Amino acid sequence: MSSPDIWRPLVDEDFVNRIRHHVSCEILPHADAIDKDDFYPVDIIRGLAKAGFIEILLPKNFGGEGRFELVAALFEEVGYASAATGVSLISIFQSLTMLSLFGSDSLISEYRPKYREGLIASYALTEANHGSDIRSLDTKAVRDGQSWILNGEKSFITSGSAAEFLIILAETDIGVSAFALPYGLPGCEKYVGEFSATIGLRNGPHVNMRLNDVRLPLDHLIGTEGKGVRQAVTVLDYSRTFAAAISVGIGRAAFDGALARATGRTAFDQTISSFQGIQWYFAEMLADIDAARLLVYRAARALDDHEDIARHSSTAKLIASRVATEVASKAIQIGGAWGTSVNTPFGRYFRDAKTYEIGGGSSEILKNTIAKFLIGRMPK
Ligand SMILES: Cc1cc2nc3c(=O)[nH]c(=O)nc-3n(C[C@H](O)[C@H](O)[C@H](O)COP(=O)(O)OP(=O)(O)OC[C@H]3O[C@@H](n4cnc5c(N)ncnc54)[C@H](O)[C@@H]3O)c2cc1C
Repeated sequence: MSSPDIWRPLVDEDFVNRIRHHVSCEILPHADAIDKDDFYPVDIIRGLAKAGFIEILLPKNFGGEGRFELVAALFEEVGYASAATGVSLISIFQSLTMLSLFGSDSLISEYRPKYREGLIASYALTEANHGSDIRSLDTKAVRDGQSWILNGEKSFITSGSAAEFLIILAETDIGVSAFALPYGLPGCEKYVGEFSATIGLRNGPHVNMRLNDVRLPLDHLIGTEGKGVRQAVTVLDYSRTFAAAISVGIGRAAFDGALARATGRTAFDQTISSFQGIQWYFAEMLADIDAARLLVYRAARALDDHEDIARHSSTAKLIASRVATEVASKAIQIGGAWGTSVNTPFGRYFRDAKTYEIGGGSSEILKNTIAKFLIGRMPK
């Protein structure tokens, strides 16, 4: 259970209390099983939709409010209970953002009702030979009359095991382009690859998908042919803010778990929490999480205000993912042997936090983005 005195909501208190209640009843009880058994939380996603929380993700042209501060709160609270569920929502959010920013009116009106009902969607950029660098791809799309024909293979697809709809990046004659792909068309085959099961953010293996002469209508090209990398990076600039919010949730959960343990466990006739060395751990953790949390909400405000989102989202994810890993590591230390048990959640926090220093844009790539912002403003 979240410590409400320490983690006061930073936005609309009623909304945050509502999501906290939902998360503690509907998600938290399943978090360890999702991680251990590596399954996709389909029922939890549909439950979030039924309770009206997927609405929060919907941009204005999908009939939503498009308030990114509330989106940040949703991801923070879901991440607190289950980062794996949070990352499932991230892929849904990414696909929505790609459609909302660049999709045609026909695609938007086709998918608008489906998202509201909890459509499970993926955002597939990565391939065996292209991760951080997606400027060229081995997946190809060629035009054939009134269709696009796609061939290739994608890997590490979050939500892929249950995806009903995917955004796919593929290279055409004039460059990388984005496509909308309803799953189930002839020629699509997903499978668990050698590297699909990850140490953290385990929400059903991050499957591979083979595309073998998959035929798409022409209007399933999203945005401008050849501009797919720019579009994909813009979407990542949006979603990195919420990846950071999930990391804050992981950090808070590790902090709360360690605090409960430290106040209950005794050594040398005192509680662990009465040792100054341990109190300093908590002081550092609290200061770091507070700082990361403020960066997340500043990034969300930048999205709401249409400010320089690449800088703010990259800063937030860089710091929040690092803080989450450090806090999870300290929480294990405070827990002693108990903290290392597979029957406590600290290993999950640590693995999830570390994995999020890579997924959705590694820390090195985020630093490149921040440096690019800076260099553009340096005096010549
Ligand atoms: C849990 C998880 C879920 C994922 N889900 C998805 C998904 O849904 N869709 C999807 O498309 N992808 C997904 N990915 C893939 C993810 O986006 C990539 O892992 C990420 O972009 C990094 O690519 P890479 O792993 O190929 O590393 P590489 O690109 O091979 O990089 C290896 C190392 O080199 C560093 N590096 C690379 N380029 C530079 C540079 N220019 N400067 C400095 N350092 C550099 C990297 O930071 C990293 O440390 C997921 C990954 C994980 C772990």
